[in-house]
Amino acid sequence: MRVGKPLTDPDDPRHGSTTAYNHYGCRCAVCRKGERDRRKARKGLPPGDPRHGTQNAYGYHNCRCEICVQANNERSLANYQTERALRYARNYTRQGADGPKRYHQWTSADLEYLMARDANGVYLHKPKEAAAFLGRSVAAIGNARRRCRTEPKYQLMLGLPTL
Ligand SMILES: [Zn+2]
Ligand SMILES: [Zn+2]
Repeated sequence: MRVGKPLTDPDDPRHGSTTAYNHYGCRCAVCRKGERDRRKARKGLPPGDPRHGTQNAYGYHNCRCEICVQANNERSLANYQTERALRYARNYTRQGADGPKRYHQWTSADLEYLMARDANGVYLHKPKEAAAFLGRSVAAIGNARRRCRTEPKYQLMLGLPTL
């Protein structure tokens, strides 16, 4: 995309036009809304167009045919998995360092996941696995488990009788 001189004059009548957005590269509120509206107004690609299934077809041409929707879902899933894998790798290499959710409150669901045990009382999820899944550090997993065993606040969240 060519980016020229942004339209600095707020009264310029070209704000909101394709020219302002694409040629001048203006990203003021009016121009961004104009681009959003134009995108929404696009009706997708005609059947048989070779671009179905591409990111451009979905994003730019606003195509929501079966091929494009499925391709988009697959892209989102791939992104999600990549992100999770990256998060896991980070936690794995920085064991004991802070997980991305440091300072976030634990939820009951987090704690239930954390404290799930098999019939022999062995945790179902290993610390590294739980850390990656919950976006916490391995150290945080250990701390939370200890608190679940000793602190009434955590036991209440788990629905357990407090000590
Ligand atoms: Zn503008
Ligand atoms: Zn399509």
